[in-house]
Amino acid sequence: SNSSTYTWGNPTDSTQDYKPGRKKIRQNMSFLSKRRALPIWPYKSDIISRIEQSQVVIIEGETGSGKSTQIPQWCLEVENVSKVVCSQPRRIAAISLANRVAHEMGVVVGDEVGYVVRFEHKSSLSTNLKYVTDGILVRQLMTDRSLEAYDVIIIDEVHERRLVTDILIGLIKQILPYRPELRVVIMSATLNKNQICDFFGDYNYMKFPGKTHPIEKIFLPAVIERVKFSKNDKNEKYVIQAINVVMEICIVEQKEGDILVFVTGRDEIDYICEYLEDLCVTYKDSMGTIDIIPLYGELPYSSQQRIFAKAPKSFQGRISRKCIIATNIAETSITIEGIVFVIDSGKVKLSSVDQKCHMKSLLPVDISKSSAEQRAGRAGRTQPGKCYRLYSQDAYEAMANDTIPEIMRSDLTSVILQLKVMGIDLETFESINPPTPDQVEFAIERLIQLNALDPYHNVTKTGRQMARFPLDAEVSRMLVASKDYSCQNEILTLAAMLSGDRPGSVFVLVGKKKREKAIEARAQFVHPSGDHLTYINVYKHFISNGCREDWCFDKFLNFKILNEARKTYEQLEQIMIELRLINPQSHSFPSKPEDSQILKAILSGYICHLAQKDPHTMCTDKCKYITVLNNLNVTLHPSCTLSTSYDLLCYTTCIRTNFTYSYLSIVSAVDVKLYHEVARRTGAPPLPKLQKEYREFNRRKPRI
Ligand code: ADP
Repeated sequence: SNSSTYTWGNPTDSTQDYKPGRKKIRQNMSFLSKRRALPIWPYKSDIISRIEQSQVVIIEGETGSGKSTQIPQWCLEVENVSKVVCSQPRRIAAISLANRVAHEMGVVVGDEVGYVVRFEHKSSLSTNLKYVTDGILVRQLMTDRSLEAYDVIIIDEVHERRLVTDILIGLIKQILPYRPELRVVIMSATLNKNQICDFFGDYNYMKFPGKTHPIEKIFLPAVIERVKFSKNDKNEKYVIQAINVVMEICIVEQKEGDILVFVTGRDEIDYICEYLEDLCVTYKDSMGTIDIIPLYGELPYSSQQRIFAKAPKSFQGRISRKCIIATNIAETSITIEGIVFVIDSGKVKLSSVDQKCHMKSLLPVDISKSSAEQRAGRAGRTQPGKCYRLYSQDAYEAMANDTIPEIMRSDLTSVILQLKVMGIDLETFESINPPTPDQVEFAIERLIQLNALDPYHNVTKTGRQMARFPLDAEVSRMLVASKDYSCQNEILTLAAMLSGDRPGSVFVLVGKKKREKAIEARAQFVHPSGDHLTYINVYKHFISNGCREDWCFDKFLNFKILNEARKTYEQLEQIMIELRLINPQSHSFPSKPEDSQILKAILSGYICHLAQKDPHTMCTDKCKYITVLNNLNVTLHPSCTLSTSYDLLCYTTCIRTNFTYSYLSIVSAVDVKLYHEVARRTGAPPLPKLQKEYREFNRRKPRI
């Protein structure tokens, strides 16, 4: 092997930006001095020549050092390179980087530099540098098996060890022998170097130092109770603590600098932001102006740009600050300048599949030590900083060293279908860490139940059609089934609504004062069968009222979610036409399907998501059910529109919580007869002894 391991790359002459003879690429001169100050700049020539020399280059460098913005541009200077793609785990990062780099190069986004993410793109034939999400690249691999479209493939943020990133790396390793001229660059903040390097075997590794300042770490900071919370407050302790620490810094701290708070999700972020806004008014005489900015993955690009704005000017000698409330997206994915104070909840929301009950869950869990260090590190980019950890030193010691890679804890159903459609043999497919046999088995069983695989694990026609949709397997199954039940419009609508970030939030939550009005407004849309048809109703009214924001406001509906769904609808409709699931001609004069037809299509997708009335339920207890798949005690989420109890429910998500009961959300009541009709088509067992037989059905193994 000609692997060369080289640590602390040797900076070459930084004044020499271009080697004679090397291609010149466009740049906007006004950004040059900023770019030259990035820690990565001195390594430019070194990095370019490594890429020229080796097929696989692995680059490790501190977050914010300039990897994601600079290296892709430099790749355009490499000899014989004209098309470069850089993949990111998150949509928001892909879009933001494309915009930033287009600025730096002085070009228009969508022209020479562009991006492609799910349901949205700005790129053209002249795009030479494309930022995409990992998912898009995996999808492209389904049709362009050796990614001939690119000369250099850069995979960024590999340290996050996202499921799709790991799959992508596995797929790319397979094409290396067939494309000796292809260049692959793996980029990462902190890295389990041996694991990734061993995986490639033949590689060129470099690490360059970042600039960091010392950081004081304060565990469980004792704070004066600035804010009085009621004892019954339902928020997590760290949410309340975080608000207190922010206030403490704003009122007492003499040092200038911005604040970054890490919590687990959008609900907490919205709550903290709102609370702080109020406090800023109450305490306006004892602190400067505070700019409170939320940051999470699903935020629209324009709102996200606020985090790059300068902090407000100091006012009457009081220090003004930016205060960013973020998910772990700010841990390594997005770099914010000027942060001096970090407040770390010690928690992160991780999605996983419970290995025992096979239930998907999205629960806040403790972060790992390496995450805690990354978070603290955000405070020391420009000057010495402070990190307030809202947990004890003991709790820190008890944390795992690294987060378990997603591939070892996720639902693999959609990924395995994609691999199968690509004709990849799961037995020989290599990934940095393999999933557990249980996970694979679970996914395959699901795919058989959805008729995506036959009992011998071969992909069916339905499976091939499903794989064309960038959606969860259940949703794509439902779309394919919609043709059988002649309700394509309705199911497209539902799929579009369900694939948004927070489908459950289409009804806006309001305070006590307006609650009655909101309930009244919602009643106009409620369908007696439950949430699925209610959503379809909402969308239909949205369209027939001209997709107006003021109309949504009047009806207490979330305009952003509906508007987003409209765009998604069009994209999915295109795929439906390509698959001939819709005939474009007859489509313009749709007949109105029966509600039962729509429910049957929904059931075809959610055939494993059933819950039966708990036989032990008291008559007054109207919301207790048991899931068919795994006998879990569940109850309806308060957002559900169903009110009385039913024999059989079909649900979209089941959220496992820390309590005795888990919640079902987006639920419809289904008639047992409907289930039988669908079951007959799909080969699912009949209902009467459903629970027992279903489990047997799950265990049924093909005889090969
Ligand atoms: P890395 O990939 O090493 O984490 P980046 O290349 O993403 O580093 O970032 C380099 C610098 O460019 C950082 O200081 C970051 O704050 C800045 N930057 C990146 N994107 C933007 C943007 N959209 N607007 C303003 N500054 C940005």
